[in-house]
Amino acid sequence: MRTVIAGGHGKIALRLATVVANQGHEVVGVVRNPDHRADVEQTGAAVVVADLEKASAADLAPHLKGADAVVFAAGAGPGSTAERKDTVDRAAAELLADAAAQAGVRRYVLVSSTGVDQEPDPSRGEVWVAYVRAKKAAEDALRGRTDLDLTILRPGPLTDDPGVGKVALSTGPLDRREVTRDDTAAVLAALLEAPGTAGLTLELMGGDHDVVGAVAAVQA
Ligand code: NAP
Repeated sequence: MRTVIAGGHGKIALRLATVVANQGHEVVGVVRNPDHRADVEQTGAAVVVADLEKASAADLAPHLKGADAVVFAAGAGPGSTAERKDTVDRAAAELLADAAAQAGVRRYVLVSSTGVDQEPDPSRGEVWVAYVRAKKAAEDALRGRTDLDLTILRPGPLTDDPGVGKVALSTGPLDRREVTRDDTAAVLAALLEAPGTAGLTLELMGGDHDVVGAVAAVQA
């Protein structure tokens, strides 16, 4: 299996690349900063340098040729502007879909966020409002496409604590609970092995179910 991860130097992306490479699969991380190359290569992944706010779908598509799946794990990140929430969290997710379509890659796993179905709380500021709107707009744009086998993962509040291998994963709402980036990466890796999750939007929180069992259960 060959997987291309957009936002390849992100905290989830580096963990996911490690898991997938350790499973013996081929993995490629797309980064915008060439200085991040060594960190990504250390996971066992190959590296493509491309800025998803500057590249076109045609620029990106050749790097996706022959891939079995793409994962969008990029994000403008904390401290960014409202404008970059739109250019990264929404537009770059759509760009990856366009590039995947051009390259003939159907499988797409989108890292979104819990809470995007609710109207964002304006008291949290314009950047927060833009973030929630961008995540929701990306989901809606991708869900409307017939050329993708799309799984949307909506993690709850992320932590850098070591993974515990236990999660709660559901097509319906879950009680809000922190989930580690390690466990989120493990779920993403399991989703890549589970084409039957295409078409699903999945909430992810910390929980009591082992990762592989949780992914199997949502497909049933
Ligand atoms: P992260 O560490 O901030 O990683 C995001 C990556 O996206 C960074 O490596 C960043 O690269 C990259 N990126 C930004 N702009 C780019 C561009 N123009 N071209 C290429 N790459 C670009 O995020 P994370 O913690 O792994 O989280 C992944 C996703 O989960 C994010 O979308 C986040 O919104 C979402 N999420 C977060 C939470 C939470 O509690 N924090 C909860 C649910 C969902 P640079 O290093 O070059 O900036």
